[in-house]
Amino acid sequence: MTKSRGYAALQANQPLQPFSFERRNPGPNDLLIEIQYCGVCHSDLHMARNEWGVGVYPMVPGHEIVGRVTQVGSSVRKFKVGDVAGVGCFLDSCRTCENCRAGEEQYCNRQLVLTYASADKDGRITYGGYSNNLVVDENYALRISPKLDPAAAAPLLCAGITTYSPLKHWKIGKGHKVGVIGLGGLGHMALKLGCSFGARVVQFTTSLNKKADALKLGADEVVLSTDADAMQAHANSFDLIIDTVSAPHDFNTYISLLKLNGTLVLVGLPDKISELQPFNLVLKRRSLAGSAIGGIRETQEMLDYCAEHGIASDIELIPIQKINEAYERMLKSDVKYRFVIDLASLPKE
Ligand code: NAP
Ligand code: ZN
Ligand code: ZN
Repeated sequence: MTKSRGYAALQANQPLQPFSFERRNPGPNDLLIEIQYCGVCHSDLHMARNEWGVGVYPMVPGHEIVGRVTQVGSSVRKFKVGDVAGVGCFLDSCRTCENCRAGEEQYCNRQLVLTYASADKDGRITYGGYSNNLVVDENYALRISPKLDPAAAAPLLCAGITTYSPLKHWKIGKGHKVGVIGLGGLGHMALKLGCSFGARVVQFTTSLNKKADALKLGADEVVLSTDADAMQAHANSFDLIIDTVSAPHDFNTYISLLKLNGTLVLVGLPDKISELQPFNLVLKRRSLAGSAIGGIRETQEMLDYCAEHGIASDIELIPIQKINEAYERMLKSDVKYRFVIDLASLPKE
């Protein structure tokens, strides 16, 4: 077995703490990655605290992983020792269902193996990236361009692809008006990517103190969502609104800002949904949609796009010992705009 060290939640109501565990030995198709950086996604907090009710403990969270390949199996073709590799939210999938065959593995109909708290194909529970190493099949690892700073690239593996994918799916470009709700980890990537695709982007926020930042990050306009008049000024005008909010909130106001045929796409995953007013959708043929991360092919495309266009996450690098504090700050929307753990801080023993 491969010995690993990390930080785990031993139970849903406990802070994360040092934890030693084992991973499978790398097989012929596997890479062994020494993890350098791991982003802190709000999903890690939802999961560690069992807010979605699907937690498995002990749980080592973390699915925005970047590190160095230190070992490759005999059949590995895409990576060599020394390469920088990334791993996102899943490590494997059935590979045969129609969604897997279409390169949309994240929507696998049979068995999506998530990067943590999930059963792998041998029934072994997976442990995530708040740790020193990871074993992954090369087909589920991503290449990270040397043009990207590895720490700032880590959040692209979840926050980046989760916002890139809907922008692509709804074919956003010049002439479109896009809204982004919430300026957090996902939100700031949606804003950067939406602007880079040529759309006019309006950032919605509950935090007045983020207004100047949002403009710096490229927003054409920033709207405080508690200001009813400012909201109303955008009625019937958006092609797409990406909702990244992590806590329960009202969707109806945002739906009324969509133009004919416009879409509100949920990427945020609060544990409760707001009540919907059907008239709001029906009378303007509007859609309410959801979207989850992205497939391996699209994730690679996004990473290469970001390397080409100089796009990465704005990060606050933390030692792993600060993870519990980081969770509390994330809950208060006090992060600009993604915590990334520097795994060099992990004790050697
Ligand atoms: P985050 O960094 O904490 O950002 C969430 C933002 O939502 C906050 O910065 C805040 O923005 C806003 N917000 C928080 N509480 C709010 C409230 N009560 N009312 C209104 N706005 C509020 O979180 P994240 O990592 O970006 O993740 C966001 C959500 O996406 C989480 O639920 C996460 O689980 C989910 N997620 C989904 C996918 C997917 O595949 N669909 C992937 C990753 C994450 P302002 O301060 O600007 O208001
Ligand atoms: Zn995530
Ligand atoms: Zn499948």
